[in-house]
Amino acid sequence: MSNTTADVIIVGAGIAGNSAAYYCAKKGLKVIVLEEEMIGHGGSSRNGGGARVSGRDAREMPLAIYATRHIWPNLKEELGVDPEYRQNGYLVCGYNEEHKKGIQNRIADAAKMGIDMYLLEGKELKDKHPYVSDHVTCAGWTPTDGVANPLTATLGFYKRARELGARFITGEKVEKIKLYKGRARTVVTQNGNTYEGGKIIVAAGFGGKEIIKSVGLFVPVFKRLIEVIVTEPMPHMFDNMVGGMSGFYGQQTVHGSFVFGNALGREQCFAEITTPVSSSYNPANICHTIGVDIPALKEAKIIRTWSGWTDMSVDGVPIIGNVAEVPDLIIDIGCTGHGFCPGPASGYTLAQLANNETPDVDISKLAYERYDMAKKQPQYY
Ligand SMILES: Cc1cc2nc3c(=O)[nH]c(=O)nc-3n(C[C@H](O)[C@H](O)[C@H](O)COP(=O)(O)OP(=O)(O)OC[C@H]3O[C@@H](n4cnc5c(N)ncnc54)[C@H](O)[C@@H]3O)c2cc1C
Repeated sequence: MSNTTADVIIVGAGIAGNSAAYYCAKKGLKVIVLEEEMIGHGGSSRNGGGARVSGRDAREMPLAIYATRHIWPNLKEELGVDPEYRQNGYLVCGYNEEHKKGIQNRIADAAKMGIDMYLLEGKELKDKHPYVSDHVTCAGWTPTDGVANPLTATLGFYKRARELGARFITGEKVEKIKLYKGRARTVVTQNGNTYEGGKIIVAAGFGGKEIIKSVGLFVPVFKRLIEVIVTEPMPHMFDNMVGGMSGFYGQQTVHGSFVFGNALGREQCFAEITTPVSSSYNPANICHTIGVDIPALKEAKIIRTWSGWTDMSVDGVPIIGNVAEVPDLIIDIGCTGHGFCPGPASGYTLAQLANNETPDVDISKLAYERYDMAKKQPQYY
């Protein structure tokens, strides 16, 4: 094989691409990863580190469950890098009867998938989570959810994949895929280079949309810019993930800083935002929410904010798997702002597909083929 030919070409070096590269290399496959910017440039190293199964759509729960049961707990040993994974639970706060009903629905959804989640109220809530204010009247508690460090997790997969022989090329923007006898075979980059693979995995976040389009496929995915804040290191308060039915979520990191984000995109605060810079509105919104819910954080000093694009699918769950009409193409796109936790399981599954194995995880509900209508009406996306 030449140095531009591999068993598997992976586009995108986020948590999905890097973990797919690691699992492919572990199977003995020759891998080339092409990254437009630098390793972990996308949401994978910018996210809030929430590693939760609860509150997810049932269609993507199997990936998140596989990740939190079989991958995250062993990752430190497996990668030789500490992803700071702590399975210490997730408290989702509610403020009214509507939120309580929402939490009860989440509990029912979790139970269907064998996940224990509990409603906490009154004295039990205050005794177990004394840091929340009286504004919080009810909460959902999922003991098996947790948090991790996005940077060390994403770069850990990269490091281990390289050690196993995967080749990473940065500054290489993939523009299109070329078919050979109807099968995905070659990718062409903006620099004019071509790379040939037996399988092509597109795990490039929103950037994957144009690449996939080059072989006539249309994914109903749009992008949204979301933001997180980080405080100065503070005395230890809690080890679990905390969030709200209002959309905020976060953790206290191992070194003491609090990292909090908000499900609201910046575009929902300001129209016509095109550049990923911080706004003054969204961090203020996050600060207000955590100040009300967690009074001890009212005076916390925010030392930094950052933002990142997310690839939002119209029905809120990713599109992952083989694509029937383009053999040898495997896609993973549309993580919709919550793809960090299942990311390692996505990579594991992508590698199984690249090796022609039947995936351990049921991804049948996440298939591209669910968008039949979208394919007929690509102009809407
Ligand atoms: C601020 C923020 C907070 C978040 N919080 C959480 C959270 O707490 N929990 C959670 O589970 N999820 C969270 N997410 C979502 C999560 O980070 C993403 O869903 C996940 O990281 C997606 O991983 P990925 O590997 O699919 O994509 P990405 O990390 O976006 O990686 C895609 C890579 O492909 C590259 N690329 C793009 N186009 C091309 C091209 N044409 N050629 C070559 N390379 C290309 C990009 O540069 C990028 O490096 C958050 C996201 C953000 C932005």
